[in-house]
Amino acid sequence: MSNLSVRAKVFLWLSLILIVSDALFVWINYRAEQARFQGHLEQRATHLRNLFEVEMGNTALSMQQTATFVASMPEVQLAFHQGRLAAEHEGGGAGGPRAKLARERLLKLINTPWQELREHYDTRQLHFQFGSNATSFLRVHATDRFGDDLDGVRHTIFHALRDQRPTKGFECGRIICGIRGVTPVFLNGQHAGDSRFIGVLEAGTSFRTLLELLEKPSQAKFAVLLSMSHLSDTYFPDRLERLKQENPALNGNIVEATLHPEVRELLANAQIARLVEQKGTLWLKLGERHLAFTAFPLRDYLAQQDPQRPPIGTVMAWMDVEKDIQQLQRDLSFNVTYAVIAFLLIETMLFFALRRATFSLEKMIAKQTATLRDMAAHDELTGLYNRHYLDEFLQKEYASATRHDRTIAIAILDLDHFKLINDTHGHLVGDRVLVDAAALIMNRLRTSDLAFRFGGEEFLLVFPETDSEEARRLCEELRLQLCGSGLGGLEAGKITASFGVAQMAVSGESLDTLLGRADSALYAAKDKGRNRVETAVQ
Ligand code: GH3
Ligand code: MG
Ligand code: MG
Repeated sequence: MSNLSVRAKVFLWLSLILIVSDALFVWINYRAEQARFQGHLEQRATHLRNLFEVEMGNTALSMQQTATFVASMPEVQLAFHQGRLAAEHEGGGAGGPRAKLARERLLKLINTPWQELREHYDTRQLHFQFGSNATSFLRVHATDRFGDDLDGVRHTIFHALRDQRPTKGFECGRIICGIRGVTPVFLNGQHAGDSRFIGVLEAGTSFRTLLELLEKPSQAKFAVLLSMSHLSDTYFPDRLERLKQENPALNGNIVEATLHPEVRELLANAQIARLVEQKGTLWLKLGERHLAFTAFPLRDYLAQQDPQRPPIGTVMAWMDVEKDIQQLQRDLSFNVTYAVIAFLLIETMLFFALRRATFSLEKMIAKQTATLRDMAAHDELTGLYNRHYLDEFLQKEYASATRHDRTIAIAILDLDHFKLINDTHGHLVGDRVLVDAAALIMNRLRTSDLAFRFGGEEFLLVFPETDSEEARRLCEELRLQLCGSGLGGLEAGKITASFGVAQMAVSGESLDTLLGRADSALYAAKDKGRNRVETAVQ
């Protein structure tokens, strides 16, 4: 990482942020889609529950109508009346031989309508009861079971007997559970209004027809589950045992009705079992299929009367949601594609923007560095190269001359009595003299020559590939010009300069030695009265 450029680092960090926000975008979108789908499923679940409950009410009503139809047959009324009288006379409960006769008569009378009701109206139970204990007189659907008291078990019957009014609803009995309709049976007398209450007649059916009716329009599959503990309270013990063998309970529930045997397999799934227990809606992938499930409580007649009572079972509905899931997945892949394209686009833009920004930054830095370098190499007052640059340059130039066997001459130029100029005319005039002297030097030198400000009022001149004679001649010219110009606004001749010239020794010498020799020549010039050029001996 440390080898990476700042640009690469910035690019990597921004890309990382971009990837994270892209992934976040996809995830949030996907979660929102899922939540929408869950909401949609819950709506469908409510619709299914309403459908189921309305249809259950309709079926109970239809059973009530069936019972009322049979109870309105005068011969049925009479036979039931006689049966009740006989049973009561013969000690209650099942009664004796007279009650038996009446029961057989009633059964014979009822046989034809019973067959029709079974066939056309899916009636599964027809049951006569009487008395305050709701004594069973005749079960047309189980003719060998009679004489037992149903109070405490069959509340639809008990309430209908107690109040002499029709009742209806789902309820479990001793033999079977069903959707029931109970109607009071009266013996109609000769005269209008002359009627006696005998008992009640109940008609019942299973869920099967209801489920057949529901499944097509709703496109869902249903299963009605009953809690085993509830059945244990109501069923005849032998009936319960048989049920347990024929239809073993799954997690405490038996499958009361379904058109789909696969439900047992579904209930073995832990998530579905939990849904049945806790109710609600969920969707699952089972094998290759995506299915949505909903479970809602099944309330029987008593629980409908009293909402505080617990439900006695669960209705589960499920449906294929393959299309919806495919849509969900399509939306997800669309989102992912969108995010990837956006990512690539932004990445490309980012790459070029960063590159452009770094280029112009680099350009600006290079420019400023050059300016700084330039400033660092030049003397502020005179604009000539300064001492710092001189060291760097001269080392190189001198080494190159030595290597290529080229000669080089240098001269140190020192303004004479400069201290006096300062003292007489002021420091500012002194400065102006330095600036003018530098400009003149620059003007007069050849293009290959170089001038440096060496110290306060000293300048170093470098003459590449020049011998001391030529250098001396050039310095002499320069000396005359300096002397003849009115530098710093002072009159001509006021400013003079002394020069010390030295040429690189043929045998080779160090730069310091060369500089030392030039310096000595300068001292000699000063010694000899100033305003002159002296050359160091070779
Ligand atoms: P000599 O002829 O022996 O060289 O005498 P001099 O007075 O020129 O030499 P000295 O070394 O005694 O004094 C140099 C003077 O140059 C002293 C200093 O104040 C002056 N000086 C150095 N740098 C500057 C500068 O940048 N501006 C001004 N105005 N004066 C400077
Ligand atoms: Mg000096
Ligand atoms: Mg001086």
